[in-house]
Amino acid sequence: MAKTVDAIIIGAGVQGASLAFHLARRGMGVTVLERGTFGGGATGRSSGLVRMHYDVEPESRLAWASFRYFRDWFEIVGGECGFTRTGFLKFVAPEYRDELAANVQMHQHIGIPSFLIMAPDVRRLAPMIEVADDETAAFEPESGYADPTATTAGFLSAAREMGAHLVQGHAVTEVTAEHGRVTGVRTDGETYSGDVVVDAAGAWAGEVAGLVGLDLPLEVWRHDVAYISRPSGIGTTHPTVIDDANAMYFRPEGRELTLVALEDGNEIGDFSPDRETSSTAPGFAGRVADRITRRMPAMAEGTLHSMHSGQDGITSDQHAIIGSAGPDGFYLCCGFSGTGFKIAPAVGESLAELIAEGGNRSTVDLAPFSLARFREGRELVGEHAYEAIWR
Ligand SMILES: Cc1cc2nc3c(=O)[nH]c(=O)nc-3n(C[C@H](O)[C@H](O)[C@H](O)COP(=O)(O)OP(=O)(O)OC[C@H]3O[C@@H](n4cnc5c(N)ncnc54)[C@H](O)[C@@H]3O)c2cc1C
Repeated sequence: MAKTVDAIIIGAGVQGASLAFHLARRGMGVTVLERGTFGGGATGRSSGLVRMHYDVEPESRLAWASFRYFRDWFEIVGGECGFTRTGFLKFVAPEYRDELAANVQMHQHIGIPSFLIMAPDVRRLAPMIEVADDETAAFEPESGYADPTATTAGFLSAAREMGAHLVQGHAVTEVTAEHGRVTGVRTDGETYSGDVVVDAAGAWAGEVAGLVGLDLPLEVWRHDVAYISRPSGIGTTHPTVIDDANAMYFRPEGRELTLVALEDGNEIGDFSPDRETSSTAPGFAGRVADRITRRMPAMAEGTLHSMHSGQDGITSDQHAIIGSAGPDGFYLCCGFSGTGFKIAPAVGESLAELIAEGGNRSTVDLAPFSLARFREGRELVGEHAYEAIWR
């Protein structure tokens, strides 16, 4: 016999977990169906950067509305999300300096603590960082990184305490609909009926959307990450940095390691999201060493600790698809394009408002993230846009 619930969420990554928490908080009966184990997709591989700097205002608003969750996690959700405040610096290539200043203004207008700082301030703040005399950086003193697996576990555990169910090891193979409205899903073992079905299946979201006849503009993005043992001269921490000028980002991982990843050389295409993620692209370690020593020369004394890869669904404008699409009651929460961790708390909150209350008025307006934008020529581009981050 079918199990009846109010809402069925497909996928227990950070997005499915956040939505489960927010729907359960609104009193809805929620079941999260996960084909593997929670956090086993992009979330478990995520670098976990928590910053508000984007060139697209709606995304900065989502990141800012999410920030208070990371900062006050224990009070809002309970347990630990591993948030570590390191301060965040954003460097851009010389031709984007005007855009950097304009985007910092946009962030300040939203209320985000963000400042434009000059080279001497960067040196005072982070002496281990090499900066040219004419370089400027955006500085977010409150930002840092968190632990994506702990964040997901925290959301799920709080959701379960409020009555939600998590079923792991069962893939959704069918979404059922009648008279243009979803009626539930089937997995390899069970049938669930419910009026709301949410596709939060990460890099697999296109397959799931295909079950209701939707064709998503979604490809798979593959991204390599390295961990380097930090030489003692650098100290026990350093800021979290996105360095577009050198097409990389890095952050401390605890007191001894530095995580480094590159903005270029990421494979994007129509390949299987089921590929293994234990290997990295040929030559990746050498490219990482070359880039990180340009910005932190003392890292030349560092040693490679480990490397892995991860995969996420990516859209053509590199921003998420969130909102209703297809049959009534079917929602998309996918296409996070390699930057979906830090915005998950507010995405879940805003989407829960949309589902449970019929409109997301109090948190962040999700309309700019609709699927319709792709066919209507309204792809998300910042007013003061940088080059696409992943290439
Ligand atoms: C290497 C890497 C580094 C990143 N770094 C950052 C960062 O620093 N900051 C940031 O904000 N973002 C970052 N991201 C992006 C961020 O991690 C992702 O956008 C986010 O985790 C996506 O979460 P999700 O829940 O949508 O997807 P996922 O975590 O992929 O979860 C989807 C889940 O759906 C399940 N599933 C799929 N099909 C089915 C089915 N048919 N039935 C049931 N379950 C199904 C999968 O098993 C999976 O567990 C990074 C991503 C990667 C890969």
